[in-house]
Amino acid sequence: MAPILDVTDLRTVFHAEGKTIPAVDGVSFHIDKGETLCLVGESGSGKSVTSLSVMRLIPPPGEYAGGKILFEGEDLLRKTEKEMCAIRGNRIAMIYQEPMTSLNPLFTVGMQLRETLRKHQRLSAREAQARAVEMLGLVGIPDPGQRIREFPWQMSGGMRQRVMIAMGLCCRPRLLIADEPTTALDVTIQAQILDLMRRLKRELDMTILFITHDLGVVAEMADRVAVMYAGRIVEEAPVRVLFAKPRHPYTRGLMDCIPDPGRPRGQLHVISGVVPAPDRYPTGCRFHPRCPYARPLCAEEAPPMRKLGASSAACHFPLGTEAAS
Ligand code: SF4
Repeated sequence: MAPILDVTDLRTVFHAEGKTIPAVDGVSFHIDKGETLCLVGESGSGKSVTSLSVMRLIPPPGEYAGGKILFEGEDLLRKTEKEMCAIRGNRIAMIYQEPMTSLNPLFTVGMQLRETLRKHQRLSAREAQARAVEMLGLVGIPDPGQRIREFPWQMSGGMRQRVMIAMGLCCRPRLLIADEPTTALDVTIQAQILDLMRRLKRELDMTILFITHDLGVVAEMADRVAVMYAGRIVEEAPVRVLFAKPRHPYTRGLMDCIPDPGRPRGQLHVISGVVPAPDRYPTGCRFHPRCPYARPLCAEEAPPMRKLGASSAACHFPLGTEAAS
């Protein structure tokens, strides 16, 4: 089966102060129909620029410097802006971390849902109203016929995120890109929203690209995981394989950072240092200044992506192999 989204060697750069800064630097991944791929990594690793690149929403001074983004076999990098407008919202939808940055506080949620439906689906006012109420019900908003008249600021954070999901799904997109959609929510609401997304994925037969820095969310949501670091994918694996046998030291480091109630107090693991800025990537393996397993070769040569059973990892000395010992 051909993947619904197939990204190959994507390069997205920004131009600033006479420099060309590679925010996404040769990223390749695919998502099969009906699958949830989680793109995981620390802030600044290039996850959001990757998702915005797929939507072709990179503003100047950013530009696409190479690669292909095949969505249902069509290269999105070759589409005109008019063609992309017909794809965004309709065939690919995106939901964001903070609903208040996407919902207009001056209009009721009903007006905003109807506007989206009329623009993308050319529904009549009556049809759009009926579909908007149906969508609010589908995402678990009680009494949707009433609440459709409310403004976003009259709703709680969890309800606003449900409205955002309704907006994203109202045109029944084939691919949903969810960029940290639960990060701003408290844990109980987060669990409800993740449950909701899993249910809607099943009911609407959706494919999801889920961006997160939270490995707990990855364990809940992912079929497969791509780990991103400093503008590149460094490991990719089915979720069970990744958690059972991480191959890249960065993935291992992220897992060690998950709080463990069994660990004595004061022993929270951290990965030393920070993700380098895109204009200061180190030579060789970009993780080498922070890697506890680094050897001289790591600073000299960038490791290629290598297949290791069900996983792939870009590391000269992948964990669990003879090379690491
Ligand atoms: Fe660590 Fe070297 Fe592997 Fe990079 S290539 S992750 S520095 S062991």
